[in-house]
Amino acid sequence: MADKRDYYEVLGVARDASKGVIGSAYRKLAIKFHPDSNPDNEEAVEKFKEAAEAYEVLSDNEKRARYDQYGHAGLGGSGGPQFSSVEDIFEAFGGMFGGSGGGIFDSLFGGGGARRQERSRRGADIRCDVTLDLEEAAVGCSKIVEVTRNELCESCDGSGAAPGAVRESCVRCGGRGQVVQSAGILRVQTTCPACQGSGSTVASPCVDCRGEGVVPRQSEIKVNIPAGVDDGTRVRISGQGEASPHGAATGDCYCFIRVREHKVFERHDDHLVVRIPLTYAQFVLGAEVDVPTLNGIELVTIPAGTQTGEIFRVRGAGVCNVHTGRHGDLLVETRVEIPAKISVEQEALLRQLAELEKTEVAPERKSWMESIKEFFSVSEEDE
Ligand SMILES: [Zn+2]
Ligand SMILES: [Zn+2]
Repeated sequence: MADKRDYYEVLGVARDASKGVIGSAYRKLAIKFHPDSNPDNEEAVEKFKEAAEAYEVLSDNEKRARYDQYGHAGLGGSGGPQFSSVEDIFEAFGGMFGGSGGGIFDSLFGGGGARRQERSRRGADIRCDVTLDLEEAAVGCSKIVEVTRNELCESCDGSGAAPGAVRESCVRCGGRGQVVQSAGILRVQTTCPACQGSGSTVASPCVDCRGEGVVPRQSEIKVNIPAGVDDGTRVRISGQGEASPHGAATGDCYCFIRVREHKVFERHDDHLVVRIPLTYAQFVLGAEVDVPTLNGIELVTIPAGTQTGEIFRVRGAGVCNVHTGRHGDLLVETRVEIPAKISVEQEALLRQLAELEKTEVAPERKSWMESIKEFFSVSEEDE
């Protein structure tokens, strides 16, 4: 525990600070390092936890006295309360300050306990997957996908109660949906096990959903996919997740997009790359060539003296950006195409060209068939 900071130092208060001073020092730090205002900031989370821990000890007379006398060692083997997560802190302190009447966590975190309870009762989000062709991804489309999700039970309309039966306030938690459990020095608020957080129970449950209020079902949902989505894009379909009983909000469905590789185009963000083969003559003399685009054919001018690998840009012929709606470009990459077979006239011209350019070329070769014939005639002579 040598690396643990002094609790008074953490809160920046004097050793004889009053409870009020300790409370307001903690409040300031909790606001400053609150995860909502420091997203993805590990250091802030650590500071937030450190402050919560210091406050946990110094706001409790007995613990503070032990800490004053023995330091961290006075607080047991673990050296004081350990919050493994920010959620733990909410749970512990949400309970300590009471659920109602302006506890500091209510004012700090906008409704504290009640909001979290609501969130936990909201229907779960679900996932579906859709695979598209590049053409579909580029212009957008709508797809019907099949999902399995909890839907409201039609027999009881989500109440979980048998016909005629009514829900009664849960005895265990007094209808709050949460119970406070003491675990050592911590008081932890958890979902009520008797009513699963709903705050009410029913004596004769609905037989179709066994009182759950929801039943698993296979459904088809329509996914509208905006133009410009890319491989890995996630589209949210609001309110198409799992239903939640007792009138709580339905979850969302997240559609994960895959885009198949295209035979002709390669996508680089909003740009498309197409590679076109040109002959030596076209590179040297220039040419006008037809280049495929997503919408058809575009005439592209290749100037004389173009080098292999040179890229020509067709503005706006790429994919539209899913956020801005602006189109990327089509990048036409040139590469030289070497014919595998040439005619006798072509060969003669190329040899003439090589001579003019004073470059060394391989001597005229016999054709493959001739070589084969030669091979066999040699073999026959051997026998
Ligand atoms: Zn039911
Ligand atoms: Zn309960």
